[in-house]
Amino acid sequence: MAYIEPAPLLDKENPFEAMMSRFRTASQILGLEEEVYNVLKNPAKQVIVSLPVTMDDGSIKVFEGYRVIHSTILGPSKGGIRFDPHVNLDEVKALAAWMTWKCAVVDIPYGGAKGGVACNPREMSAGEIERLMRAYTQSMQDVFGPDQDIPAPDMGTGPREMAWLMDQYSRNKGMTVAAVVTGKPIVLGGSLGRTEATGRGVMVSALAAMEKLKINPYKATCAVQGFGNVGSWAARLLHERGLKIQAISDLASAYYNEDGVDIEAAVKYRDSNKGSLDGFSGAEKINGSEILTLPVDVLVPAATEDVITGSNAGNIKAQLIVEGANGPTSSKADNIIFDKGITVVPDILANAGGVTVSYFEWVQNRLGYKWTAERVNRRSDRIMKDAFNNVFKTATDYKVPLRIAAYMVAIDKVAKTYKFRGGY
Ligand code: NAD
Repeated sequence: MAYIEPAPLLDKENPFEAMMSRFRTASQILGLEEEVYNVLKNPAKQVIVSLPVTMDDGSIKVFEGYRVIHSTILGPSKGGIRFDPHVNLDEVKALAAWMTWKCAVVDIPYGGAKGGVACNPREMSAGEIERLMRAYTQSMQDVFGPDQDIPAPDMGTGPREMAWLMDQYSRNKGMTVAAVVTGKPIVLGGSLGRTEATGRGVMVSALAAMEKLKINPYKATCAVQGFGNVGSWAARLLHERGLKIQAISDLASAYYNEDGVDIEAAVKYRDSNKGSLDGFSGAEKINGSEILTLPVDVLVPAATEDVITGSNAGNIKAQLIVEGANGPTSSKADNIIFDKGITVVPDILANAGGVTVSYFEWVQNRLGYKWTAERVNRRSDRIMKDAFNNVFKTATDYKVPLRIAAYMVAIDKVAKTYKFRGGY
């Protein structure tokens, strides 16, 4: 086998470097052939479009939009659409590859993709966003499709934008095609259970890891960074399973209560306070950076990327880290954490509950049928538990951290499928 260069250990990384570093390490351990490595390294398709949109004042503004399909080896590609001023092709490429590994690790029949438009939705009216979304969909009409490429929401987009995408695509087709996109409003064929799906997957994988580490959930303490969709649902569901959530935080503030924060009260407060925890009275205010180094059993980073780095990893006291966020840990921090004997359930596994229920949305749309929330939860819990066990076994067999094991499971599955399907 040709030699694949060792991965450099980086601290402040861009998402592409972060993904490549783990991808390379896992490929090396698997002994992946260089030819296959090169196939999996490069995105299958990159589309850049120019989107002229009439703004409310009558002017015409041109936005740049991207869709990168990293892989369709396992099935139609799947991945969100990001509306953000910093969107660029490199970032979209990395996030597309990330989706390939995430879908493969939970064994759902999808490849990976990601899309984005460089724009600032916070400074745009609903009408301007709608026209931009329709223009983007129009340009991607031949890229998207329920058997080709299935988008979903990401930063800056949500159910409203997915409804416009579904409508525009369907108008062009002359029929309603609900399965072209997931994350739709429930009335348009969205799935029950999608809102809490990622937080629920974090809870399931945390409990599975605690069982292996022999941590009793009823005696365990936990800190959760980020109190948006993923963090607040993870906190709520972990609390329901017996954990004492001693600390929560968001961008504005952080709170600690040794006896446990009342999560329902915190959610209510946040919802009545424009989405912010600032001013919450049920706990003592602490410094935002402290949340990561508190003496708790379980730490859930569920806010943003690159928060656990070479400079704070050595101070982490939790026995278990469950990554709700994408890319919260740098590769340099990975090694420090591993040496300290801390177990990390990596992002591509821990937060895959979201894409799993998106897959269920697509399945329901194709069946023309709706599942109950109980059925959705039962099936996604099973998928998450099986994926965890599979990754755990690989980690034990190869004596590697769960993160590398997760990449190994994913890469192995995609590589084997590629070899069966064959190239030209
Ligand atoms: P969100 O916007 O609903 O919430 C983000 C939360 O993090 C907010 O409370 C925000 O105030 C807080 N935050 C942001 N920066 C912070 C910082 N530096 N320190 C502390 N708190 C900070 O977003 P979300 O949907 O909950 O996503 C959170 C993370 O999970 C992201 O990394 C996202 O990519 C990842 N993720 C989300 C989903 C999903 O289904 N929503 C699925 C997979 C992965």
